[in-house]
Amino acid sequence: MSAKILDGNALKQRRSVALTDEIQTFVARHGVAPCLAAILVGDDPASHSYVKGKARDAARLGMRSETFHLAAGTTQDELLALIDELNGRPDVHGILPQLPVPSQIDPDAIFERLRPEKDVDGLTPSNIGRLTIGRPRLVPCTPLGVLALIDEAGVEIRGAEAVVVGRSILVGKPTALLLLQRHATVTVCHSRTRDLAAETRRADILVAAVGQPKMIRAEMVKPGAVVIDVGVSRQDGELVGDVDFDGVLAVAGAITPMPGGTGPMTRAMLMENTLAAARWQLEGWA
Ligand code: NAP
Repeated sequence: MSAKILDGNALKQRRSVALTDEIQTFVARHGVAPCLAAILVGDDPASHSYVKGKARDAARLGMRSETFHLAAGTTQDELLALIDELNGRPDVHGILPQLPVPSQIDPDAIFERLRPEKDVDGLTPSNIGRLTIGRPRLVPCTPLGVLALIDEAGVEIRGAEAVVVGRSILVGKPTALLLLQRHATVTVCHSRTRDLAAETRRADILVAAVGQPKMIRAEMVKPGAVVIDVGVSRQDGELVGDVDFDGVLAVAGAITPMPGGTGPMTRAMLMENTLAAARWQLEGWA
C-alpha cells in the first residue's frame, strides 16, 4: 500500500482562493491593503529567495509588501530602531524579521521589541504565551501549516497519539501545543530522547522537525500513520527532509513530500497571519 501524498502546493493554492476574497473584503472596508514588511539582515542567499517568494505571494493575493535589506554588519540597536519605526507605522500591519540573523544580533531582543499585533511569525513572548495558555492569537506559521496538512489527511486528531520530534520555539513546541489544543496525546522528542524509534512507532501522527537528513526510516513509523516532514537539509546538492520519503511511503497512511509539503504551507500561513494581524489592528481581535 502506498501513502496518500499531502500536497502542500495544492493546499496553498486552494486556501489562496478564499484568502483573496477575504483580503478584497478587508480592502473594501478599510481602504488599505494589508502590508507585510520583511527585514533581511546580511546576504544569505536562501533568506533572499524566501523573502522574494513572500513578496510575490503577497502581490498575488492583493496585499502590499516592503523589504528592508540591511547590511551584514548592522548592529542590534540599528535593527531595533527599524523595528520601532515599523511598529509605529499605521500602514505596516505585519513585520517579519527573516531568521537567521548575524551573530551580533540576539533574536530574542527582536521579538521582545516587536508589537504582538504585528508579529506575523507568532514568536513574541506574548503570542507564544497566549498559545501556551490556550488563547492563541498570532501563531507561528510552520506549525499552523503542519496542522492544516494533518487536517488534509482527514484523520481524527482528538485522542490520537501524536509524536513531535524537535522542541524548538519556532516549530516543535508550538506544533505540540496546537496538537494538544486539538486534544491529541502529545509526546515531544529531542536530542536527549533515550529511544526515539520506540516513541515514533507509537505515533498515529508523526511530525519531524529536526534538520537531520532522512533520519525517520520506515521501521520507525507505525503502519497507517500520518507523517509530516518539516526538516530541510542539503545532501549531495539536493534538498532533503527528515523523513526517508521512499521508504516511509510504503508504511505511512499519509505523508508530505519534500519539497512541496510543509514549505509552501509555511508561506501560505504567513499570508493568512498578515491578514489576521491587519484585522487585529483595525478591527480588534474577534
Ligand atoms: P532547531 O532549532 O535546530 O531544532 C531542532 C530540534 O531537533 C531540537 O529540538 C533538537 O533537540 C532536535 N534534535 C536534533 N537532533 C536530534 C536527534 N538526533 N534526535 C531527536 N531530536 C533531535 O531547528 P528548527 O528551527 O526547529 O527547524 C527544524 C528543521 O525544520 C530544520 O531543518 C529547518 O530548516 C526546518 N524548517 C522548515 C520549515 C518549513 O517551512 N518546512 C520551517 C522552519 C524550519 P535539542 O532541543 O535537544 O537540541
